[in-house]
Amino acid sequence: MIKGEFVDAKIVLLPGDGIGPEIVEQAQLALQAIANRFGHQFSFESQMIGGCAIDETGNPLPDESIEACRAADAILLGAVGGPKWDDPRAKTRPEVGLLKIRKELGLFANLRPICPHADLLDASPLKREIIEGVDILFVRELTGGIYFGDSGRRNEGGQEVAYNEMNYSVGEVERVVRLAGEAAMKRNRRVTSVDKANVLEVSRLWREVAERVIRDEFPEVQYDVVLVDAMAMHLISHPADFDVVVTGNMFGDILTDEASMLPGSLGLLPSASLGEPGPGLYEPIHGSAPDIAGQGIANPLATILASAMLLRHSLNLQDEANAIEAAVASVLDEGHRTPDIAAGREPVGTTTMGKLVTDAIAKAS
Ligand code: NAD
Repeated sequence: MIKGEFVDAKIVLLPGDGIGPEIVEQAQLALQAIANRFGHQFSFESQMIGGCAIDETGNPLPDESIEACRAADAILLGAVGGPKWDDPRAKTRPEVGLLKIRKELGLFANLRPICPHADLLDASPLKREIIEGVDILFVRELTGGIYFGDSGRRNEGGQEVAYNEMNYSVGEVERVVRLAGEAAMKRNRRVTSVDKANVLEVSRLWREVAERVIRDEFPEVQYDVVLVDAMAMHLISHPADFDVVVTGNMFGDILTDEASMLPGSLGLLPSASLGEPGPGLYEPIHGSAPDIAGQGIANPLATILASAMLLRHSLNLQDEANAIEAAVASVLDEGHRTPDIAAGREPVGTTTMGKLVTDAIAKAS
């Protein structure tokens, strides 16, 4: 992939459904602007996932898409789903494609940065003084825990009982906590591990392993533990106190959705799913927004920021990732807004917002 100081990377695009194609196109243009500015060679290949893949092939993740993803250096996804594929009697659903790609690529960690832009603090449902200074990186375990444990129903004393098993192995905890430690070393060197060790045996193992990994492998990292119920409160009372937060699958699912409300707009939040070995998968955290699809008004910034994460985590291009984030920040500083974040300003559409970002990338060179 690396030729001297220039990178030659193969990026698979999975635009998906609804606004997916519109926003992925803008992120591709931003990546191309980076390639032009820094002298890299990025090749792009589009593949199907989700509802559009069901319509075309009957399969939400065709084999061809999986193979292309395996051969890629990184994957950029839009979103999947929509009312057209919501029939509960349908043989398959778009979301099946999403779960399958994560499983096929062994994507065991989901990274979600929460860093509200200074000019948008008033869009938050929380008070400005609580949001100011928030810069959290959530690291959620993605392929283990209760969502993947044995489940079923049984009869107990004539009554139906349902159960879900929660398991974590030492190896599963080690690899995700190690990733959190590595991320913290590039940030403010603090890791908070979230568990429920006062009640759950699984959490007691999680806590033992997390403490050992950070103590032995990241002695410069300041480490603390918080119970998940307390964390739910801390996130809305003093979110600016956290740096990297690492937790299991179900706790992470709930806490990251809570945290996504801090900035007040879904249209600005990216995420990355990482595994070893193999390519990472990058996407906005929002869905396919079928209510606005095809109208040219979707906010492409979360997907553009996901492409910055792609540069940072899969291609190890830190300056290039920073250049995308700086371009997005400068466009927001200049007051440009899509309708979802306009708050009374004259809004711009998807392609105009994308063009403002690519122009800002080019202008900074
Ligand atoms: P959503 O995130 O698609 O939309 C919620 C609201 O936010 C809508 O009003 C939408 O218009 C708005 N919105 C979302 N992204 C936006 C953007 N970039 N710019 C401007 N406005 C934006 O969530 P939903 O409505 O609950 O779900 C719609 C579909 O997306 C469903 O089929 C759902 O299953 C799917 N979904 C997919 C993913 C994914 O692919 N990772 C994630 C969540 C939901």
